[in-house]
Amino acid sequence: MRIAELFHSIQGEGRLLGVPSVFVRTSGCNLRCWFCDTPYTSWQPEGDERSVDEILQELAAIDCEHVVITGGEPMLVRELVSLTEELHRRGHHITIETAGTVDLPVFADLMSISPKLSNSTPDDHRNIEGQMSSARVVGSWTARHDAQRHRPEVIRRLIRDYDYQLKFVIDDADDVLEVERWLIEFPEVPDSRVYLMAQAIDRDALVEKSRWIAEIVKSHGWRLSPRLHVELWGNTRGT
Ligand code: SF4
Repeated sequence: MRIAELFHSIQGEGRLLGVPSVFVRTSGCNLRCWFCDTPYTSWQPEGDERSVDEILQELAAIDCEHVVITGGEPMLVRELVSLTEELHRRGHHITIETAGTVDLPVFADLMSISPKLSNSTPDDHRNIEGQMSSARVVGSWTARHDAQRHRPEVIRRLIRDYDYQLKFVIDDADDVLEVERWLIEFPEVPDSRVYLMAQAIDRDALVEKSRWIAEIVKSHGWRLSPRLHVELWGNTRGT
């Protein structure tokens, strides 16, 4: 499987905030969010091919119970089934971070699902100085991204069969209305599983947006997720 990076850090988002974890980041994604904070796994995928055994050896050298498999979209990678089975056998706690559009019978202690709202769709107006890709490539992804970003049957299977959390990336007040509409489709989701987190890649924007998101969260009984890695290290790769 193609691995963009493997590193030891702390979980910066959601229920396991602050827990020391090893991150295994697969490269490749079926979506192209305009705000993707790991474009080296989506717009310009990078990484080396590594076998399940090689990854297990690297993880064995790091004394860390929690393993977070992230991406890109890790659920695209079939070898994840055998990797997660073996990690479970070795006693690791496994989090899978997914957008919830692809299904795979993996083992996971926590399925961390980040459904992509309409605010994620790439268009060339947001492609400032071509940071996403060329206008032609961005244009080719607009409809494709929108068609793939919501797969209710996958979400339904994941929240039925795993312990889970839902993390929504929020840019403005309209996004909150969209979260409310999204949740109507899944009445089985309790408020305590819903995390809102600000769309931001620098500390100042993160704090400013998180302040008004906190008020929304209070009124709905949801949760505010910080992005601790952004607060501590900024948008730095491998942290
Ligand atoms: S789903 Fe995640 S990895 Fe894929 S483009 Fe969106 S933010 Fe990036």
